[in-house]
Amino acid sequence: MRCSRNRGAERFGNGCSSAAARRMRLIFSAPFKSTTRQMRKTLSNLLTVTCVTCLLTSGCTESQRPSGPDGSPAAADANLAPRAERVLTREERDQLTPDEVLDSLKQGNQRFVAGTLTSRDHSKQVRSAALGQFPKAVILSCLDSRIPVEDVFDRGIGDLFVARVAGNFANTDILGSMEFGCKVSGSKLILVLGHEHCGAISGAIDDVELGNITAMLANIRPAVDHFADYQGDKSSANEEFVHMVAEQNVRSTIAGIRKNSPILADMESNGQLKIVGGMYHMDTGTVTFFEE
Ligand SMILES: [Zn+2]
Repeated sequence: MRCSRNRGAERFGNGCSSAAARRMRLIFSAPFKSTTRQMRKTLSNLLTVTCVTCLLTSGCTESQRPSGPDGSPAAADANLAPRAERVLTREERDQLTPDEVLDSLKQGNQRFVAGTLTSRDHSKQVRSAALGQFPKAVILSCLDSRIPVEDVFDRGIGDLFVARVAGNFANTDILGSMEFGCKVSGSKLILVLGHEHCGAISGAIDDVELGNITAMLANIRPAVDHFADYQGDKSSANEEFVHMVAEQNVRSTIAGIRKNSPILADMESNGQLKIVGGMYHMDTGTVTFFEE
């Protein structure tokens, strides 16, 4: 932008106001012998003209500054480049310890709860994982459709083996799958994941009998029988009792894994594997991990 003093232009180049033009002429016509006071006034006028010019020529306003999804500057700062993750290689997976894998699941769940899931290109990851997989954990979950296991731990394609059966118990087929995942493929962690408001747990408590469901629920009965001396209402109407049985079912399943799979028990005693339990809370998305 240039200013034409001789022509007395009302507007400058692409948008100075006539007021700004008058200020600019005043500045340039000020006597060289200005006092300090006049110099201060001159500098003040110059700043004013600069600001006016900026607004008129660049259109730089608060509403047009970059902002986060909710429009706040703070959110813009927090909305850094999205996390991007690729499929684990064998070397990367093998370098992890069981505790590091557990920590990564805990951190992933925190991101799930906070709504800051990692950005993933699943189409690309499918192609990357096509020639091999090196998952770092096996998760045994209930069949329940309200538990998106990979999302709950912010994991992507090739990260997890997920076994699902109503009531998250470990029969021979599940044990074989776990042995494949850990002994053959190299996973470092088994997580038995129960959850609140579980229909399978309620069915086992109420002794539901229907087709193959009867035999399936028999796998959960030991957790119900564990509370034979419970003095309260031992029906699915009692939320406290359902919660107690659901947690006990996770503990019983872990004990059964150690008892019925010498392969996995040996891996755990050698420090190659960790077997842990957790409960998924549907109302918050939080997973509570059981203490050892
Ligand atoms: Zn369930």
